[in-house]
Amino acid sequence: MPMYEFVCRECGHRFEELVLSASASLEHIVCPSCGAEKPEKLISAVAFTGCSASSCGTCKPSSSGST
Ligand SMILES: [Zn+2]
Repeated sequence: MPMYEFVCRECGHRFEELVLSASASLEHIVCPSCGAEKPEKLISAVAFTGCSASSCGTCKPSSSGST
């Protein structure tokens, strides 16, 4: 699930918020510090739920056909 980082336009407080979809309305997101609405969205914090890297031993694809 994607997690976005926001920064408050009012007090500059940075916080992370889970966003269900990219098209979801962000108007309900408020600064947990001062309560200001519509914080600025940063693109830095994105959590990937899947990984296709073969070098990743944690989330290796379940295709056991390496002959
Ligand atoms: Zn704030």
